[in-house]
Amino acid sequence: MARDGGRAQPAGTEGSGIAVAYPVVTPLDAPGGRRRLPVRGENERKVPNVSRAPENPAARGSASPRCSCGAIHRVPIEAIVIEEGAFDKLGAFVRARRWSNPLVVMDANTAEAAGSRVVRELASGGTRAATLCFPVRHGLLADEASVGRLDDVLGQTAADSLIAVGSGVITDITRYVAHRSGREFVSVPTAASMDGYASGVAAMEFHGMKATFPAVCPVAIFADPETVAAAPPDMTRSGVGDLLGKATARVDWLLAHALWGEGYCAEVEARVVGAVVETASRVDEILDRSPQAVPLLLSGLVESGVAMAMVGNSRPASGCEHHASHFWDLLAAQGHRPHGPHGLQVGYATRFAMRLQRFALDGSVAKLTTPRPVPDGAGAGAPGSWFAGHGAEVRAVMDAKRRFASDHESAWPRTAAAWRAARAQAGAAMDLFGLVTAALDAARIPAEPGFLGLDRATLETTFRVANRIRARYTVLDFLEGQNRLGEAVEAALA
Ligand SMILES: [Zn+2]
Ligand SMILES: [Zn+2]
Repeated sequence: MARDGGRAQPAGTEGSGIAVAYPVVTPLDAPGGRRRLPVRGENERKVPNVSRAPENPAARGSASPRCSCGAIHRVPIEAIVIEEGAFDKLGAFVRARRWSNPLVVMDANTAEAAGSRVVRELASGGTRAATLCFPVRHGLLADEASVGRLDDVLGQTAADSLIAVGSGVITDITRYVAHRSGREFVSVPTAASMDGYASGVAAMEFHGMKATFPAVCPVAIFADPETVAAAPPDMTRSGVGDLLGKATARVDWLLAHALWGEGYCAEVEARVVGAVVETASRVDEILDRSPQAVPLLLSGLVESGVAMAMVGNSRPASGCEHHASHFWDLLAAQGHRPHGPHGLQVGYATRFAMRLQRFALDGSVAKLTTPRPVPDGAGAGAPGSWFAGHGAEVRAVMDAKRRFASDHESAWPRTAAAWRAARAQAGAAMDLFGLVTAALDAARIPAEPGFLGLDRATLETTFRVANRIRARYTVLDFLEGQNRLGEAVEAALA
């Protein structure tokens, strides 16, 4: 396997392989989990902090040493516990925090999966929790109605804190309301389905429009391995796809760094790499709902979220594969196709993103030319109607890309040797592609057109225009700037 791909070593690190070089957040005490990392002073603490304390003191809000990238990374999450007995520790955490009246937020499914147990565990430690259980099994939205309901219950119960028991939607509703009401919240993930548990923003759907809103990170995350392993298989499969997409996000980040000098952190990148490597080779076990392997996937997803929190944006975990997925969401919102699960979309897009990155960095672009000016609108090959109603956003994205190019102009490689060096630096990050390809095969996320209602023509359009969706520089911008995008997309779909 590509586990021993020494080329993945980010600058400034040593060691014989990426699999062992970087601790990631793990189910430390879970059977089959990693060795337990020592935590400073843990014997004196009622609540063991089993998070990343040894390698990221900043995460504990203590003195924050400067990272090798020059930044001080602050992650306000105090504990990440993914292990047997996690709910026990949640109870201890709540008492240590002196929360006397937490409100547990769940839905009909997550109440059965974990919520009722959380409430009992709190009660056995003397904490009487209030509850809000949305009485639905499907289709709960992070919308005005859900927020209003939570606001009401918060008012009635005068709860001093929130505990979100669930996956994406429940967590988003809770963190949004926690932020607005100035309360802290704890996340209790019930599925390894997405990488947003550690996030400080909420994906809300107000007036039928999906958008990201300011929210807060959880102060802690507590997950029970058996609960997470028992989640619906498609949720876990989606989490696999989302995590595997980090492989191409990483190449996009390094490409922007190598070509334009965009800020980059090897330590943050290493966390994400560790997460991908840790789980990619165990996809079969993960999809078999192994209580040893599924928590590793959850750990990897949480770790990706921590990486994003460390740099303050989603750069370490989201590149052109996510932009393709966002474009497909847009098509679904316009009725062109059914909505698909985020992680499956990301995993599918990763297949094509890897081919585009190989095209860009494996020799097809032998000679670098001065990038063509960033175009204004949707561009050639885009049926304008697909961006209908979003013209202003697309123009703003392209304006941002133009500013990025002019701000970083001096870094652009101007000699053949400089291009070779940049290509080698970004290209080295493709060493995970073999592992990721095998993992996508194992997850039955195909490499051919037709998956998730996306035919060849739609895929072609997607990769020609998805760089209009977000301001972030990716391989799509690189290829378009070199006037090679059409050719590369043809090759990727051949
Ligand atoms: Zn750093
Ligand atoms: Zn994602």
